[in-house]
Amino acid sequence: MIDKSLKRVYLDIGHGRDTFRKRHAKGIIKPNGRVFEEHQFNSDVAIKIKEKLEKLGVEVEWLQRPHSKEISLRERVKYINARHKEKPYDLLISLHANASNDGTANGYGVFYWHTNPDGKKFAKNWVKNAKKILDIKPWGNGTWKSQLHKWTNFCIIRETKPTALLIEHFFFTNLSELEKCNTPEYIEKFADVTVKTISEYFGINHVDISNKDLQIIQNHYNFSDDDMKSIELYRNGKEFLRRLLNKI
Ligand SMILES: [Zn+2]
Repeated sequence: MIDKSLKRVYLDIGHGRDTFRKRHAKGIIKPNGRVFEEHQFNSDVAIKIKEKLEKLGVEVEWLQRPHSKEISLRERVKYINARHKEKPYDLLISLHANASNDGTANGYGVFYWHTNPDGKKFAKNWVKNAKKILDIKPWGNGTWKSQLHKWTNFCIIRETKPTALLIEHFFFTNLSELEKCNTPEYIEKFADVTVKTISEYFGINHVDISNKDLQIIQNHYNFSDDDMKSIELYRNGKEFLRRLLNKI
């Protein structure tokens, strides 16, 4: 039976580890001769997002493993829609970094299908959180409509059943943005923006409890270490602990 309270997110990692080598696209040779491959960054962000979402009790699935070979868009879409029938997904997030012939183009942008109000809401919130967490700028106003007969007509957004977003985190063709954003610090921040937006979207509360308070709860209720860990991992677990604390 499907647990309806459990939220499911599909993470789509843009491109594959063989894409740049095969197509000479979705990557760049930097002035120092080293190669940046978009898939590498997309995978790194995806791994962080998955870790953080699972701590909030959100189920995450991806079709291809991070750092794996490219799976065609057609196959991905077919798989996602087939899976969605068996086990519905609440969101599909496709992770990317942007490219332009103009080396000064910069900033983040989130694409949503233009007739989907949930997608629009998500995109706007992502930008709102990005403005707080990142110190790079939005590309345009940060939200982009994906629609038919336009260059924004992305198959992964148009053809998939769950509400789908495509996030372009930054422009890797802008060398100073690349140096800044393809770092562990920024990868963490980008993941935080997405996780915060997803948890707001699902109404999962971010509650912070100090270690001292956790200790008080554990002692008072005689919880084992395992009990504490399971409660924390449960969706809204921290909120539950906060309620227990208030009763002491
Ligand atoms: Zn891409």
